[in-house]
Amino acid sequence: MRKRILIITLLVTAAAIIIYSLVSTQLYYNLSVEDERHTLEVYVNLFDTEKYSPDDDGAHAFAGRLGGARVTIMDAEGNVLGESDADMIESDHSDREEVREAISSGEGYAVRSSETLSQDMMYYCRTVDIGGTTYLVRVAEYLQSSWSMYARLLPSLAIYLIIDILGCLLFTFVATYFILRPVESLTREAAGGGMVQTRYPELSTLAQILNERNRNIEWKMREVDEEKKLVERAQDSKNEFIANITHEMNTPLTSIKGYAELLTSGMLNEEQTKVAYKTIASQSERLTNLIACIINYNEIDDDTLPPYDVDLSKLAREMMAVVQPEADKRNITIIDKIEDNVIVQSRHERVTQLLGNLMRNAIRYNKPGGTVTVELNYKHFVVSDTGIGIAPENMDKVFSRFFTVDKSHSGKNGGFGLGLAVCRKICRRAGWRISVQSELGKGSAFTVDFGLR
Ligand code: ADP
Repeated sequence: MRKRILIITLLVTAAAIIIYSLVSTQLYYNLSVEDERHTLEVYVNLFDTEKYSPDDDGAHAFAGRLGGARVTIMDAEGNVLGESDADMIESDHSDREEVREAISSGEGYAVRSSETLSQDMMYYCRTVDIGGTTYLVRVAEYLQSSWSMYARLLPSLAIYLIIDILGCLLFTFVATYFILRPVESLTREAAGGGMVQTRYPELSTLAQILNERNRNIEWKMREVDEEKKLVERAQDSKNEFIANITHEMNTPLTSIKGYAELLTSGMLNEEQTKVAYKTIASQSERLTNLIACIINYNEIDDDTLPPYDVDLSKLAREMMAVVQPEADKRNITIIDKIEDNVIVQSRHERVTQLLGNLMRNAIRYNKPGGTVTVELNYKHFVVSDTGIGIAPENMDKVFSRFFTVDKSHSGKNGGFGLGLAVCRKICRRAGWRISVQSELGKGSAFTVDFGLR
């Protein structure tokens, strides 16, 4: 960057110096041509027609009077009559530019290069009247050529260029320091990962780009972090799931094993043998139920079958009829607040599970003689009961897998703590929201919100 600025400023200033020198030299040359012309005009005015004859003598004499300028005297046609410079004698000068002009308009001048490059010759020619006859008098003097002016300029030009290089070096050093300092500090700050700000409008785009880049990096990092956490959580949850299953299976298996051993030992009497067979049968059934529940729970995730319109009102009433005997056994009244024709997008078997789990829980965790209210409209489905209720600290946990408030009763009435977890999964897949409101000892209300307003 520094090198670039140095080269650019050097090129620009050097070009400016050279152009300026050439232009001013040319102007100076033009001025000196103009001055010389005036001098030669004054010279010719000094030509005294009485004193100088139109021949070589007259030319020599006048040249002497002018201090060495070349003098040529010609007749009106340009034929040379007298010449002060013996080396330049030529008979006819009528083709010379200044002579031609003088013949046609009375005076003329011209500048021609001499044999050497360093000098030009300036000619001024005018008509002069000597004794009634018209003659042409031409005066010429050497003039420094523009080339020689340029050549003389070269040493000082070189000095200026050296000064320019030094000046540019200093300027570049100072300028880059001041120009690059805010850029450097901006990039350094941005490299730290924070949001940067600048008071220079020229750098605001750079600041925006750096901020955008930092934000993207931050998002990516957060995404990676979240993904990592999700993977960790999934692993934890898998481990916990396996631990829970093992625990749930352990109890019936221990029981089955114990009774089987007792039976094989032949130590049991008839009554005890009956109890042993009964226990083995019921525990095996419990194991089968547990496995069925787990398979069902996992199946919901793998369910790729498409949803369709389900008449929830009809299914809710059918489910009420299914759980009615269980309610009757506990003297529990079910109140129907179901609106007709509530259609949702789901699958028959899933909705049946959802309705069944919520209604069975409301009966199972109710008090004898209590009520269960089933409310359904296009917005939501609510099952509320006047049962034992849920303690505030357990409210969030009831939807977790294998969670049962009273561990000692876990599984007694078939519950493994998977019912509400299944409900939550079904709702999530359908885009619904399930929640619970409860007061310990007074009852609970489970609401499935369909997300429609
Ligand atoms: P479970 O098979 O044990 O019923 P759930 O997942 O259906 O499993 O319920 C988890 C736990 O939440 C239950 O063990 C119970 O403690 C509590 N629970 C569920 N429904 C109700 C309710 N209506 N009233 C009080 N407690 C409830």
